[in-house]
Amino acid sequence: MWPAALARGNTPAHYDVIVIGGGTAGIPCALFAAMGGARVLLVEKSPALGGTLFWSTGQIAGSGTVFQERLGIADTPQAHFEDCMRINHATADPALTRLTVNHAGETINWLAEHGFEVMDGHPVTGIGHDHFTARRYQQGVKSGLSILDAFLPSLNAMVTKGKITVLTGTTVANLIQSPDGRVTGVTTAGSEGIRDVSGSNVVIASGGCAANARLFEELHGVPLYAKTAYPTSQGDGLLLGLSAGGAIVGGDKYASLPGLVPDAFQYPCQMFAYAPLNPSIRAPWEILVNARGERFVREDHPSVHHIERGVYQQPAHRHWAIFDAAMLERSEPIIPKWTRERLASEHQSHAMFHSAMSVEALALRAGLNPLALHSTVDDYNRRLQEGREDTFGRKMRPAPLSTPPYYSIAMQGWTLVSFAGLKVSVDLQVLRKGGEAVPNLYAIGEVIGAGATSGAAYTNGMLVTPAITFGRILGTRLARASLSR
Ligand SMILES: Cc1cc2nc3c(=O)[nH]c(=O)nc-3n(C[C@H](O)[C@H](O)[C@H](O)COP(=O)(O)OP(=O)(O)OC[C@H]3O[C@@H](n4cnc5c(N)ncnc54)[C@H](O)[C@@H]3O)c2cc1C
Repeated sequence: MWPAALARGNTPAHYDVIVIGGGTAGIPCALFAAMGGARVLLVEKSPALGGTLFWSTGQIAGSGTVFQERLGIADTPQAHFEDCMRINHATADPALTRLTVNHAGETINWLAEHGFEVMDGHPVTGIGHDHFTARRYQQGVKSGLSILDAFLPSLNAMVTKGKITVLTGTTVANLIQSPDGRVTGVTTAGSEGIRDVSGSNVVIASGGCAANARLFEELHGVPLYAKTAYPTSQGDGLLLGLSAGGAIVGGDKYASLPGLVPDAFQYPCQMFAYAPLNPSIRAPWEILVNARGERFVREDHPSVHHIERGVYQQPAHRHWAIFDAAMLERSEPIIPKWTRERLASEHQSHAMFHSAMSVEALALRAGLNPLALHSTVDDYNRRLQEGREDTFGRKMRPAPLSTPPYYSIAMQGWTLVSFAGLKVSVDLQVLRKGGEAVPNLYAIGEVIGAGATSGAAYTNGMLVTPAITFGRILGTRLARASLSR
């Protein structure tokens, strides 16, 4: 909770910079604007500052960091850029990617100077997504909270000096525009009622929309299958930006993660369990099938992005892991931290788990086509036994599926971020459809869409890293502009 005494601060009638949203991007933006000499208003709708940093693993990447230096790792922004574009198949915005990688190292070094410490063995080349070629990826010892902890003392000091006014529990409900389209302030709604506040520049940093099922589906053309985003990610900033004339782009970059075991086949569902289905984390023994009972991907493909794309192409992004008693006995449990006993017995209590003494009976119980599953398993086994190449080129084929009982686990493709966002220039100005800027209006963080910096993929750290980095850069630049006015 932000201390009540600090929540008011100075309340001048006019601010140089108004930041909407006190989360991953908004905090550094407010902080660096204030450190640069601007008078800043930071408006946060929830009772506490932090936003998604409370939930995020906060994995970030950058080159030329003190953490790399400690390990003697040589790296460059260009190598970082090439790795990002390789992982997302050049689907991210190249200019925004450049802006991120050119300044990410400074961001991480600033955090390190302010107490940010990384997990043992970090930086690494990757964790849950396709890896970089160099060790530049790290997670704080307290995940996203390590980042928040690094920011708060400096922010606190700026509030005490009267440079930043923080309003928590206050929602920005409207952008004020002059007749010529310039954004001149915001309307806030909080415990003090409805107030108009004027500002020279307004920065939307209010997060994505992956907790708002209706808006998410409208902007992506894909239902929000699972609710895993931070609850305040309701898309307020997207609607504010739209209302001021901004354009929304990037919904077509939606990318699906595999392996979420839902509480039920309804959406948005809740996550009941999670199987990473990432061969770099666990070598797969089971096969994956779709609702037709057919395999669709090489389960041990070295690129988890390839597996993610495979899931994305299946009906309703659903997939089933199929395995037998021998695989259960000999492989690491597919759901981390679960015991083999739990995996074997979960079908007695949970609708996403099934077991049967034949492949056909398993298919019927799981709601899959029995004939199709039979021939899928038959094809897998025959090719293995006859020493022929796997239909999907799979290399890791430790055993056939032939020892009853057989098991299935139903899984759902899912995402924890939104890919659609406000179109911005490389100066982070909100743009209209035609490409002209909405004067005095900026956007940073997930409100510009994960598609902008992560592309149609999950590119290591390419949300938190640009959120903080753009916050720093924009805050500093807007402060300079306010001093020169
Ligand atoms: C579980 C999880 C793990 C993740 N892990 C990673 C990771 O390891 N690496 C990575 O790069 N990305 C990760 N992400 C994504 C990343 O964390 C987010 O994209 C990023 O933190 C979003 O930052 P933001 O500043 O845009 O939004 P937020 O940090 O959510 O901040 C937005 C703030 O705006 C406030 N707000 C919203 N509307 C209004 C309004 N109308 N008025 C005032 N305030 C408002 C909200 O309350 C919130 O505090 C993860 C996401 C999740 C959910």
